[in-house]
Amino acid sequence: MDSKLHLDELLTEVKSRNPKMVLLQIPEGLKTNVVEVEDVFRAEGIPTITVLDPSFGACDIADHKAQLLGCDLLVHFGHSKMLHTGMPVIYWPVEFPLDEKMIPGTVTALKKESFFQTHKKVGIYVTIQFHLHVPEIKAQLEKAEFEVFVGMGDLKDGQILGCDVSARRDIEDKVDANLYFGDGYFHALAIAFASKKPTYQYNPFTLEIEDLAKYKEKYLRQRFGLIAQAKDAHSFAIILSTKKGQLRKALAMRMKTDLEAAGKRAYLVSMEHITPNALMGVDVDAYVNTSCSRIATDDFESYKKPMLTPVEIDILLGKRSAEDYVFDEIKHIGNKNVQ
Ligand code: SF4
Repeated sequence: MDSKLHLDELLTEVKSRNPKMVLLQIPEGLKTNVVEVEDVFRAEGIPTITVLDPSFGACDIADHKAQLLGCDLLVHFGHSKMLHTGMPVIYWPVEFPLDEKMIPGTVTALKKESFFQTHKKVGIYVTIQFHLHVPEIKAQLEKAEFEVFVGMGDLKDGQILGCDVSARRDIEDKVDANLYFGDGYFHALAIAFASKKPTYQYNPFTLEIEDLAKYKEKYLRQRFGLIAQAKDAHSFAIILSTKKGQLRKALAMRMKTDLEAAGKRAYLVSMEHITPNALMGVDVDAYVNTSCSRIATDDFESYKKPMLTPVEIDILLGKRSAEDYVFDEIKHIGNKNVQ
């Protein structure tokens, strides 16, 4: 059995709820485990259905699909709770196994970086996949005489999402620098833009540390290039997601009002999975993405027209200064602030 999924423990938890039928929601990276997971439930006589639609976060919780399919329990793998749901949900963690070099490598990497030879107060941040390792990362750094801060925001301690870096709220003023433990730039950049302190990324797979200042500059050049292109646009498609935690209708409506007040034509379009193909043939000059900011930021090169975030539209329309550039954060908790 795959130790990352801890299916024995999951089965115990599921059986204690005595469901009639379970909907399994498995993220993209675990599709190869679908048959294994189904087989484990089948062997216990628990009927299941697996949702195969891509899911990149608990913002995309399949509670409405579970109800539509007649399931009375949803198991959502790989992400932690962020929304209220109208039915029982088990959020099942998926751990990233680390080898014995990866956490001690943080200390080695920090000691090599000249900034940390004089600065010792570090705020650490992780995604949910590494959350389990936060106490060990903290202990290793403290042993090396760093003062470590783990912030508590709207998620778990030290946990961030690309759209939620509230974990920095209480520790921003206490640290010399932020340290993101993980790979990929998306989450690390979210911290780098939200914080006034320098941000470093330690990649446990390459054992390397990177000061994100240069990458942030390169990213800003790309984004301001797109804002400049969109200045000449006459018409905009404002994309409204139907994923529960990405649905921001009031924000989309404000974008439409603001663009129209500036003499542009603006159209609201809605979709669940936003792809270049789905937008092909829509005859507008630019897009505004009110859903997950990863679509506008990571995937922008796949789109033929400039794809901007709401923050970037505010800059384009002169409602926000260029110096005040931030990532597009979404407040999810309790679904109260999703606007
Ligand atoms: Fe992650 Fe995007 Fe969903 Fe936020 S909106 S949780 S960044 S997938």
